[in-house]
Amino acid sequence: MVEFCKECNGMMFPSEKNGKTVLECKSCGEMIMINDNMSQSYVLTTKIDHPVGTEFKNANKMNNWKKNLREKRIFFKRQKKLNRNKNLP
Ligand SMILES: [Zn+2]
Repeated sequence: MVEFCKECNGMMFPSEKNGKTVLECKSCGEMIMINDNMSQSYVLTTKIDHPVGTEFKNANKMNNWKKNLREKRIFFKRQKKLNRNKNLP
């Protein structure tokens, strides 16, 4: 998967920090934490958020965005669980 930096639109490269997989922008140093379990929902949420993702002008907004992203991840997890329960007899 290829991701682009929300700060400078540079390409994000996977790298490892403290044993965790992150996506790092080689141009501005922007970093996104991911892990294997979350990478799938990460792709989902960034696709949904992308249209507004270009609007970030300050760190405050970015923090809100990151918070939203986290909440969406939890949401997707819950949805998954709900769907699984629905399939039960
Ligand atoms: Zn960048």
